Amino acid sequence: MNNKVTGSCLCGSVKYTLNSEPQMALNCHCNICKKITGSAFESVLLIDQADFEINQGKDHLTVYQISKKAKKHFCNRCGTPIYNLHRLAPGKAIVHIGSLDDPTCIEPSINLHAENMLPWMLTIRDMKTFAQGLER
Ligand SMILES: [Zn+2]
Ligand SMILES: [Zn+2]
Repeated sequence: MNNKVTGSCLCGSVKYTLNSEPQMALNCHCNICKKITGSAFESVLLIDQADFEINQGKDHLTVYQISKKAKKHFCNRCGTPIYNLHRLAPGKAIVHIGSLDDPTCIEPSINLHAENMLPWMLTIRDMKTFAQGLER
C-alpha cells in the first residue's frame, strides 16, 4: 500500500488521508455492525488515530454513541460511515474500507463474530453474477 491513501464520503464533504500503513483490516459480522452500516457486514481497517487526518469537513461529521464501548462518525449530509472509535482499540481509528477512494488497496484478513455471519456469505460466489448493474 502506498502512503497517503485517501478517502471521502459519497457527497465529498468529508475527506481524509491515512498517513501510515494500517495495522490490520477485518470484517465484522456482528449484528451491531450490520445495523450501523445497513449492510451484511462491516469491513474496516485500523490505523493510529494520530495518522488518520481529516482534511476537510470535520463539521460534517456527526458522532453517534453505538454502545458504551464504541462511537460511529458519519457524514451528516450523505450518511456515509467514515470511522469508529472503540474502547478495545484505544488510540486507533477504525476506518470503513468502503469510504476509501480506492478500496482495493487493502484486503481484510480476518472475520470477527462469524457466528452471526449471514449464511449466504459462504455461497456468494455461486450466485448469478453480472459484471455491471442490471440495465433495461
Ligand atoms: Zn457526505
Ligand atoms: Zn461488529
